[in-house]
Amino acid sequence: MLDFLSVKEYHTSLINGQHTCVEAVSFCLEKISATAHLNAWLEVFEAEALERADELDKARQNGQPLGKLHGVIVGLKDVICFKDHKVSASSRILEGFTSVYHATATKRLLDEGAIILGRQNCDEFAMGSSNENSAFGPVKNAIDEERVPGGSSGGSAVAVQTGSCMISLGSDTGGSVRQPADFCGIIGLKPSYGCISRYGLIAYASSFDQIGIFGKSIEDVRLVLDVIAGPDEFDSTASQKPAITVVDTSKEQKYRICYFKNALEHPSLDPVIAASIQELLQTAATVGIEIEGIDFELLDYIVPTYYVLTTAEASSNLSRYDGIKFGYRNKQKNIDLTDLYKLSRSEGFGPEVKRRILLGTFVLSEGYYDAYFTKAQQVRRLLVEKTKLIFEQFDAIILPTVPTPAYRLGEKKDPIEIFLADIYTVYANLAGIPAISLPLFKNEQGLPFGVQVMSSQHNEKLLLRLSELLMKIETPAATSVD
Ligand code: GLN
Repeated sequence: MLDFLSVKEYHTSLINGQHTCVEAVSFCLEKISATAHLNAWLEVFEAEALERADELDKARQNGQPLGKLHGVIVGLKDVICFKDHKVSASSRILEGFTSVYHATATKRLLDEGAIILGRQNCDEFAMGSSNENSAFGPVKNAIDEERVPGGSSGGSAVAVQTGSCMISLGSDTGGSVRQPADFCGIIGLKPSYGCISRYGLIAYASSFDQIGIFGKSIEDVRLVLDVIAGPDEFDSTASQKPAITVVDTSKEQKYRICYFKNALEHPSLDPVIAASIQELLQTAATVGIEIEGIDFELLDYIVPTYYVLTTAEASSNLSRYDGIKFGYRNKQKNIDLTDLYKLSRSEGFGPEVKRRILLGTFVLSEGYYDAYFTKAQQVRRLLVEKTKLIFEQFDAIILPTVPTPAYRLGEKKDPIEIFLADIYTVYANLAGIPAISLPLFKNEQGLPFGVQVMSSQHNEKLLLRLSELLMKIETPAATSVD
């Protein structure tokens, strides 16, 4: 059965002739149709994927060397460009738009033999935490179909959760890979800012955006990261250093980890999650990992800082969707240009995107700029400085990923309440550091939740090695709190 294989096992089975890439694609296509009601995929490139799989099978059978991702079946969040295929950011405003080039990440996947299976549903322009903001309807969590999968990369998380593809690429501006990974019980990595080129990633907030990886094993996530990370002439913010994640396990270091005391005591945190993470920390200490609780006095400033800066950047990035250059245009005749802009944007964007454009325009407007935008930039600087100091003393930070497990579709209506639940994830994007959500726990209702680990900037190697060790720790069953 092809149900779950790591890339390594999959490759062994291909080389031994037990399976073919065509069989693997057919298997994923069956899963997609069996779970179509979850609404994870916006489009599946069925015929094209089967054709590519057949070519890969033939090349392998003819003895050609295998790419690192030979036959690996990947889904792309609908914000990552795949040349000559539609991309819509789950928005009406990009109706009918087709990518004219490959994102660098897409190109690198293809160059190593991956098969791109389709486009995955997400919150419109990656703005949201529940995947309920898509113009194409919400995504449902396969563990409990009445619950959200998280967002904004909800479709990408559910696709990996259900085995409809082996790997998904999402984007993470403030948690959109880690949070749905947490809600769906899989691994979600947001690398350091600049680790993976943003060329061909539809921009939300450019100084925060980063492509992230969903998978079921650290080994697979590391492999994909190695393929897609690294310098890129098309993105001047991409790091100039190649990402090196290969580990020498013979030279295991001793790790020092901290957690933020006030984060684990935060009133918004589900007590079951708090207790489970406390237990994990205690167990980690018994296997030689040094653990220390520290004070992090900036905790309550991070969500407001994030929402001031990201909405400001979004209001600027989204100004290009004017009804003229891309996608949707209002059809009325004989209207002047300003009305055409207004009507096209009013009809093309959904309510959450409009809220953020308004908010971002406000914080950038004359008279308010210094009070909001400049102030938030100053707080971001403080966070970066504080983060540097922390990593002078510690190898990693451990936090919850989300304060609660997956909630019911339609349950949360207050946007502020939804924003505040990003308390643990937005920090890594503000500081530009890598962060991962590891699926270690389940509560009494069987809902998964994860733990989040962060390392210093461009230290994905340490982050992934430590993650591997933490995944091996016998985690106590979720503690019930009476
Ligand atoms: N929930 C956050 C937001 O809505 C994160 C989104 C993201 O990472 N793309 O901004």
